[in-house]
Amino acid sequence: MTPVTTDISSPSSPASAIQAATELLRNARRIVVFSGAGLSRASGIPTYRDADGLWKSQNALQFSHAEDLQRDPAGFTKFWAQRLSMIESAQPNPGHTALALLQRLRPATRLVTQNVDGLLTLAGGQDVLELHGSLRRWRCDRCGNRSGPWPFHRCLRCGSHARPDVVMFGEMLNEGVLLDAQVAAQECDLFMVVGSTTIVYPAAELPQTALSHGARLITLNLEPLPHLDDAAAVVLRGTSEELLPQLLAGVPGSRG
Ligand SMILES: [Zn+2]
Repeated sequence: MTPVTTDISSPSSPASAIQAATELLRNARRIVVFSGAGLSRASGIPTYRDADGLWKSQNALQFSHAEDLQRDPAGFTKFWAQRLSMIESAQPNPGHTALALLQRLRPATRLVTQNVDGLLTLAGGQDVLELHGSLRRWRCDRCGNRSGPWPFHRCLRCGSHARPDVVMFGEMLNEGVLLDAQVAAQECDLFMVVGSTTIVYPAAELPQTALSHGARLITLNLEPLPHLDDAAAVVLRGTSEELLPQLLAGVPGSRG
């Protein structure tokens, strides 16, 4: 099947673009929604790319590798505990809520995210594939213990330093999670990118996998995605917290 590109991305016709995207959501059998930092921006979570974001600080450079834990356990733990407290005070926004609702209405929907804030799950999302892990969980690299609650300093089982269960710079993604996301991309007939620049691996690869297996593509992002928008059936330009609730309003069952 050759995807038909619907030329509705012009800013003058946002209503028809939303209508076309809703139509795709209604008719899809298997949907994958791939989300990035843009989804959580309205919840106050700074992104790597925000110029004034916490991630740009000198500390972020010092403590973004797992080996930094051995070099400076106290500094490492303090840095990540600060990020956790910021995430713990954040609430899901209407974009998260809309995606969780989509999954309730269309249970074959898989939610894949680059975000480590856990807000999709908090909004009611089920079995969220967190490609970069979750800052809400901690683990022990020495004995593999992941059960908490963590005191943030020491593993309760072996006494080693605990670390956040997130993928740090220089580390591999969790193979099982990545495989589930790849299979979901292969099997879906609709792939939607939400608030992700889809430049870094594997974000760059998953939409292409879906397209090469015949899926239609929706891109929803504040900025243009030059490498993807041309292949998309529908391009939505704007914020996820505004656009996703509008999309969901047209999916049967969303109004109770
Ligand atoms: Zn341990």
